[in-house]
Amino acid sequence: MTEEAAQNPGLKLLIPEDIRYNCQGCGRCCSGWSVGLTEEDYSRVKNTDWQSLHPELKDKEVFFHREKEFLEGTAAYPHYTKPRDDGSCPFLIDNLCFIHSHLGEYEKPITCRVFPYSFVETPSGVYTGVVYNSMASVRNIGAPLTEQREKLAEYFNLSIQHKNASMRPGELESQLKARAEGTMVAQASPFSEISLTPACKLTWEEYLLIEERMLKLILERLRQDEPTNIFNTLLQCAEILMQGRKLKVTGGSVADITQFEPDLKKPADPVASGTELMTLRMLYYRFFIYPTVRTSDTGLWQMQRNRAFEPKVAAIVVRAFSKYISSGLNTILMARAGNLPMLGNADLNAALTKSFAPLDQETDKLFHRWLYLKLFAKSYFGPAAAGFSVLSGFNCLTASILSVLLFAKAAALHAGRNNVAIADIYESYWRLDRELLTMGQTPEQESKFYNSGLSSPRLFNKSLWTMARSFGTDPQTPGI
Ligand code: SF4
Repeated sequence: MTEEAAQNPGLKLLIPEDIRYNCQGCGRCCSGWSVGLTEEDYSRVKNTDWQSLHPELKDKEVFFHREKEFLEGTAAYPHYTKPRDDGSCPFLIDNLCFIHSHLGEYEKPITCRVFPYSFVETPSGVYTGVVYNSMASVRNIGAPLTEQREKLAEYFNLSIQHKNASMRPGELESQLKARAEGTMVAQASPFSEISLTPACKLTWEEYLLIEERMLKLILERLRQDEPTNIFNTLLQCAEILMQGRKLKVTGGSVADITQFEPDLKKPADPVASGTELMTLRMLYYRFFIYPTVRTSDTGLWQMQRNRAFEPKVAAIVVRAFSKYISSGLNTILMARAGNLPMLGNADLNAALTKSFAPLDQETDKLFHRWLYLKLFAKSYFGPAAAGFSVLSGFNCLTASILSVLLFAKAAALHAGRNNVAIADIYESYWRLDRELLTMGQTPEQESKFYNSGLSSPRLFNKSLWTMARSFGTDPQTPGI
């Protein structure tokens, strides 16, 4: 019996096809955030005198601590790595992890070991995937995940161990005691009832039928040699979701969705409304501008909350919030998103409508692969995505692809090009997927705000039409 089977005898891992990943050692995953450490993680590294081991670590604080906030429930971890001023991890030296090279792979924080693999537990088993906040996963480089079953099982077990180690003192003990005494209240799986929209509930099996119809469409296109058209795919998937909802609310059989062939009609007025564009820009801000403002304020990440009113700390807070507000208003209301070096003074309206050369097939396949992966991995709605309904989650994926294109077009315009380069797409995906990942940890009120703002059927259809036509593409045809 393998160790995996011994630890978790009933483990059923579901692994996406055609998805590859192996770390290429570029080091880019190791910046832009503080890595949270459990007490277990911290105990493995705290006794090493890091400062004496490498000139880059000399006199540097490599951790900061939030033990009090962790116990109070306002911080997720008791300890964190303390990023350098440029946002990179203090242990990243010559693009390699110094904990890994000095103490070994097994001593790294578990978050770092498991990254970028994702695991979502459902009634059918554990769906696996990778996030695109790694250049290797964006570029689909490495061994297929289907050939990494043993490693995925090990990492899934590690992620469970990590979840247990992240509990506050007493939480795990009381759970174990309740289990031993048989008094544990059985918690319903977050997937036992699925919100297709806030008002339309599905069983897990009904949801899977709808998802299967969308996956079939996407996977066929991912594998075909003929040109594909991501705008058509997104519009068709939106129709599949709406047909699923219609079947459910009219008392039909959701199983009929397997025979459904979406028919796309050109909207009477295929120009996006002001509200649609503002919602799109709000998400663009959240994916691309907000993270740079946040990264530029490492002082804010590292402060202790109870010191927020000390003059020096208060100055950091005020400066950071004024940056958030001015950059937010500039992006959402003025459609100006220019504080990223590669974009210049980007005009998002111009980026949406400006005529460009058609997307190449490599880019279009990347969009299909990412969409397939997000749907398969169940990471776009429910517990892994801030409690989003399926429709809100799908609209968020559509807005993500539109935002990636806005970013890539703005970068091309800044460089004087009228074609989207695959390198711009890689860069924008790398930035975007980090934010999608952290959206799952947003406070409840913020999640509710996004969930309700994204819950309209066919929310971004007109933006898709506008963007498609800017690439000279007809959204009604499945190929470019
Ligand atoms: S601890 Fe190591 S693996 Fe984790 S972010 Fe830092 S450098 Fe990267």
